[in-house]
Amino acid sequence: MLNPSWRRIVLKVGSALIAPDPQAGCSEKYLGPIADFIRQCRDRDIEVILVSSGSVAAGRHHFNFNHHRVPIALKRAMAAVGQNQMMNFWSNCFDFPCAQVLLTHGDLSDRVRHVNVRNTLRRLLDHQVLPIVNENDTIATEEIKVGDNDNLAAMVATVANADALIICSDITGLFTADPNKDPSAQLIPEVRTIDERIYSLAGGASSSVGTGGMRTKVQAAEKATTHGVDTLIVDGHQQDTFTRLLDGFNPGTIFHGHKDPMSGKKHWVRHTLRAKGEIWVDDGCMKALRHQGASLLCSGIVHVQGEFEPGDAVIVRCGSGKVSIAKGVSRYSARELFSIKGQQTSEIAEHLGDILPGSTYEVIHRDEMTLLERL
Ligand code: GLU
Repeated sequence: MLNPSWRRIVLKVGSALIAPDPQAGCSEKYLGPIADFIRQCRDRDIEVILVSSGSVAAGRHHFNFNHHRVPIALKRAMAAVGQNQMMNFWSNCFDFPCAQVLLTHGDLSDRVRHVNVRNTLRRLLDHQVLPIVNENDTIATEEIKVGDNDNLAAMVATVANADALIICSDITGLFTADPNKDPSAQLIPEVRTIDERIYSLAGGASSSVGTGGMRTKVQAAEKATTHGVDTLIVDGHQQDTFTRLLDGFNPGTIFHGHKDPMSGKKHWVRHTLRAKGEIWVDDGCMKALRHQGASLLCSGIVHVQGEFEPGDAVIVRCGSGKVSIAKGVSRYSARELFSIKGQQTSEIAEHLGDILPGSTYEVIHRDEMTLLERL
């Protein structure tokens, strides 16, 4: 399935492949064929970025702790030990240098750091270094972490402008039912539209070692394909998977990248920024946003919820608050919007003064807003 047009791929390898037995640390069992695949891609002039999970699973056996639920402080300590071991493991597979890139959600949602990540990945690839990305589990808190490496890999694929994202899992791909429970479950070889039906199929199958299940893989596919990135879910346990990929076959499920991808800014707003609050609007405003591609103006706002500052992302909902219409970057704080909601542009200047020189008082500009079909 290696499409001849792909020049840069992101390969995501889950914890269940790095450390299949968490009581035993990193294992060579599955990494050999994956390392060989990376080498062969590079020989074909395809740049590879590896997103490798497994820091917690690889470090776990050094700690005398046998309960299933690991307290967060201990998890961070396990990650600190295991990250190092996992990097050593990969480095020993190759005769070219590997670079450790540890990220949190904050690094991708801050525009300046986002650009730094992009530039660093490019420099590494230009110098034939293999970037190995993981979440910075040792310092990440709930608020700043991505939380699973499927979504992290999709963010990396978009920031790096990759052509494809290959998620190596412990299951062959997306099935019509959970194959662990239903023997009649069929593999779905290709998906062109990710909708509620696809999400409902993703509900069941999950891995016991890593954080992600099939749902996070479908979320990752949605993030990546709306940026134009073809996304595959394949079984990383099977050596044959990589042979088939190299021979041009699809060994799992492919989600086709959109031919007409979202702009980089809108994609970042939709898929990377986290909403800090809500703005509820009246019917007229809802229609203007949905059908006329309008920016959000103050006059249509009926209610504001949450605490947010200018530059934060918010969800726009219809007046009853039941339906999400859009997500965008607010140019005003929640506090300011409380005092000016429902007002015409001419009245706003009196209230706030000229706080945004030259501004047309859009609350959310259309270029920084995406419509939501589902949330
Ligand atoms: N970042 C986590 C780790 O390295 C894994 C998260 C995941 O498996 O999705 O242990």
